[in-house]
Amino acid sequence: MSALQAAVERRGQQIFDLVDQNPESLFTKAGFYQRMMAFSMRDETFKVQMFRFVDVLASLRRSNDIVNHLREYFHGMDGVVPMLQTGLRAAGIFPWLTAFVLRRNVSGMARQFIAGRDGADVMKTLRKKRRQNIGFTVDLLGEAVVSEREADEYAARAMELLDTLSRETRGWTDPLGKNTELFPVVNLSLKISAFYSQMDPAAPEEAVEHLAAKLRPILRRAKEVGVFVNFDMESYAQKNGTLDLFKQLFTEPEFADWPHVGIVIQAYLRDAERDLKSLIAWGRKRGTRFAVRLVKGAYWDYEKIIAQQNGWICPVFLQKPESDANFEACTRILLDNESIVTAAFGSHNVRSIAYAMSYAEEKGIDKSRFEFQLLYGMAGPIKRALVELGYRVREYSPVGELLPGMSYLVRRLLENTSNEGFLRAKFSENLSAAELLRDPNELIKPEAIRSSREPASGHSRNGADRETPPGDSYENAPLINFVHPQNQQQMRSALQAARSQFGKKYPLVINGEKVTTGKWMPSVNPSAPNEIVGEVAEAGVPEAERAVKAASAAFEHWCRTSVEHRAQLLERVAAIMERRRFELAAVEVYEVGKAWDEADGDIREAIDFLLFYAAQMRILGRPKLTQHVMGEESYQHYWPRGVALVIAPWNFPIAILCGMVSAAIVTGNTVIMKPAEPSSVTGALLMELFEEAGVPRGVLNYLPGHGSVIGQHLVDHPEVVMIAFTGSREVGLRIWESAGKTRPGQRELKRVVCEMGGKNAIIVDSDADLDETIVDSIYSAFGYQGQKCSALSRMIVLEENYDRVIERLLAAAASLKVGNPENPGITVGPVIDERAYKRILEMIEAGKKEATLAYQAKDIPKDGYFIPPTIFTNVKPTARIAREEIFGPVLSVIKVRDLDEAVEVANSTDYALTAGFFSRSPANIHRMKAELEAGNVYINRSCTGAVVGRHPFGGFKMSGGGTKAGGGDYLLQFLIPRIVTENIMRHGFAPEETPRYRDEFLVRQPGTTVVEGAV
Ligand SMILES: Cc1cc2nc3c(=O)[nH]c(=O)nc-3n(C[C@H](O)[C@H](O)[C@H](O)COP(=O)(O)OP(=O)(O)OC[C@H]3O[C@@H](n4cnc5c(N)ncnc54)[C@H](O)[C@@H]3O)c2cc1C
Repeated sequence: MSALQAAVERRGQQIFDLVDQNPESLFTKAGFYQRMMAFSMRDETFKVQMFRFVDVLASLRRSNDIVNHLREYFHGMDGVVPMLQTGLRAAGIFPWLTAFVLRRNVSGMARQFIAGRDGADVMKTLRKKRRQNIGFTVDLLGEAVVSEREADEYAARAMELLDTLSRETRGWTDPLGKNTELFPVVNLSLKISAFYSQMDPAAPEEAVEHLAAKLRPILRRAKEVGVFVNFDMESYAQKNGTLDLFKQLFTEPEFADWPHVGIVIQAYLRDAERDLKSLIAWGRKRGTRFAVRLVKGAYWDYEKIIAQQNGWICPVFLQKPESDANFEACTRILLDNESIVTAAFGSHNVRSIAYAMSYAEEKGIDKSRFEFQLLYGMAGPIKRALVELGYRVREYSPVGELLPGMSYLVRRLLENTSNEGFLRAKFSENLSAAELLRDPNELIKPEAIRSSREPASGHSRNGADRETPPGDSYENAPLINFVHPQNQQQMRSALQAARSQFGKKYPLVINGEKVTTGKWMPSVNPSAPNEIVGEVAEAGVPEAERAVKAASAAFEHWCRTSVEHRAQLLERVAAIMERRRFELAAVEVYEVGKAWDEADGDIREAIDFLLFYAAQMRILGRPKLTQHVMGEESYQHYWPRGVALVIAPWNFPIAILCGMVSAAIVTGNTVIMKPAEPSSVTGALLMELFEEAGVPRGVLNYLPGHGSVIGQHLVDHPEVVMIAFTGSREVGLRIWESAGKTRPGQRELKRVVCEMGGKNAIIVDSDADLDETIVDSIYSAFGYQGQKCSALSRMIVLEENYDRVIERLLAAAASLKVGNPENPGITVGPVIDERAYKRILEMIEAGKKEATLAYQAKDIPKDGYFIPPTIFTNVKPTARIAREEIFGPVLSVIKVRDLDEAVEVANSTDYALTAGFFSRSPANIHRMKAELEAGNVYINRSCTGAVVGRHPFGGFKMSGGGTKAGGGDYLLQFLIPRIVTENIMRHGFAPEETPRYRDEFLVRQPGTTVVEGAV
């Protein structure tokens, strides 16, 4: 055993001995809290329901609501928690009493972790702790700000708190009386995200500039009155910005000589060591001491889920001992650099604490030169032991009201009940000191490290067949994570490169040949309409005829290629798309005005369509036995239809176009692809991708042109057997009708896949979590300027919550960043073209006559097709703005009495595309799942952003024909089902077994096996 390990064990044992002298349960508050936590650790379902109930309770005002929620959350659980039965029975008789008792108990629980309501209130706690020789750092709760107004209020409260604390602690002295210059009595912890509601990881410079301006007055005051300021660390998305901000601010001449500043390093992050070393190098260059609080990290579950949802490499370690070992590695770095950095160790883990003590001792660093920080309300005996051993102890003391404190409370409850946490192991499961003091390096499993470095995934590709739910076996392409500076840089370079291609000409592609017509259609940048992104050749009727001929001829061969061959073509396109990903996204930024992440999301979706449809076709392509019956076998399989016309919109210029094209091609059809006029350049690039991947001549033809000229001609063409259309209701219905007519020479009934618009609603229940509701609704309504067919257009709010919702909603809208999306961090860019611009303005004018204009942005760019984000209130469900699709950044808010009226209003339009519901009532959620008329219903999240395979997308009523892009049955639209039946009985004898699947029924050419599309 190393000398250091021996010292750690000795020190650890010493702490344990002291802790055991004053035994205390993990849950110091007896009664309700203790019992709830014990049940939570015993039963995972109860724990989930319990934490959810705690989360909603603070926002419930009426006794009946509390009792109803209690019933809904704990229905059927009285077996787990016997006292629930009594509680629920009592609730039926005396709801007010039950509500009162519950509220009191949960408030008591929160008070265990929240040190005071405000500056004045917290002083009682701080004085008490001072008598125990425990210092403090105060943290202001309420960091979930959704608008700049809330951020300003938070900043004002932080300033007030700072003043109160410095005034009330005048004359307080350092508990150790040594090295006091390093540790001011008043220590304030700041959560940076609370000072800016529009932080975007893709635009760290912008966030730093904004935050620096916001924080300077507070820092100035703190420096003046001798208060220490610490920057807390939050989620990974904000980490780089917080580090940059810290370095920039404290290099400024005004603060460069100020030693009383600190920042948090989270050891659960793989980046922790690198960030810490970079901070120390910065500190040495600066030449003034600073502090680092080393913690493991509070957002472990969150980071893991976000990484998994987006297909990112998980930024946190996945094995607990890895975080513990990294904590120790960072401890060594901190203490090795004690000459420039003051260490604070934020942990309740005796092993982590003992390690810091022992290493400091080994380095000869005096106890008074670093400190241990622990959370208020947790690990009391450990704090006492540390004080007794003569160490510096500071308590992290949150201040705030119950409602904003709920997320903090739930984090603490999770931490206290976590299976892997130290506190549970020691105080609830009573593990031995020897177990608890083991070297974490010995506990790391090497094989698990390897797999944890792969991008997070919740899926397995294995085992996919026609019985497996389609989304289940598909692993989505990851989104680009703009948190990483190299991705920001790549996007900037791609934008420059795309700009250098402005004005380029793109010919038609018919039968593999480049064709020009003498007519060019310019495609302009909607942010700066004088900039021509590119010009595409304009097809007329003669080119349309040539394209039909080419596609018909190619179909003869393409329909006989194997499924595998066609699937591989799509996969090659996906690989090229991945390689050219930034380039394509950059062109979208210019051609259709998408923000960086929206543009990347579009490319990601296209890659998903390609790979998902390839995988689906492999499954669909195998003839499948319909029924087991002796003496006969019947197999269902599919034929392609023929020439497909694909007419796509501009709002998802690669994804939707590519989705429809790839579905048609992989199913064996040939395609005439007509992109929308405003996104024809992007369409040309998609054609390039297919060509590079080796699409045979005539299988895909690129035919931009005017809908009224070639669109109509092709829809009516007898040789076009299928039309895949996504776009406006007006055009969609015309196509639907036109395709229904049978014309001379037509051999097939035309199949139409028709996806149209929406008038999407989100209902806000009276118990909704407003932090979430506002952020997600604002994003749903104004992301990509409201030009998604899934965008939120009607917000239906229950009257009980109405005023609170409106107040926060309007302030959040006022904080949105409107501008040219070439710059990162923009939420609202320009609308697509002049026609849209005029039409939306006209709808806004109509809205002013029929409702109250509650908010309209003023500060918007002068050039370009920028429409100010606009919110109407007092909107009647019958108003034009509440019924007609606007396709722009305009939101109507409708007040309703109750949920019955809300559903009636939500379902009252012609459309049924997306709908959303924010609520924390399990019964109401259940009801909305059943009753909302929409193809895609979203609960407690935004109503946009469908992911292929996960959220097959498409609506009904006037939103579409009920098809689901990105779903398991989408490809069937492009196919004709056939049944082939064979009598396999010979003279009364038949095989017992028939295989479930057969190989494809492919037309074979003499002397070859399969024709592979070599045309
Ligand atoms: C004073 C103080 C201030 C703090 N400030 C911040 C802050 O600004 N930002 C912040 O993010 N956190 C902060 N924390 C840390 C956080 O809130 C937790 O308290 C802390 O992570 C618990 O660690 P521990 O050493 O006490 O307990 P332990 O039980 O030893 O460690 C638990 C921690 O290990 C990690 N972990 C759990 N499971 C796994 C796993 N499977 N794989 C890898 N790692 C895992 C998690 O970080 C978890 O919190 C602070 C903590 C304290 C005490």
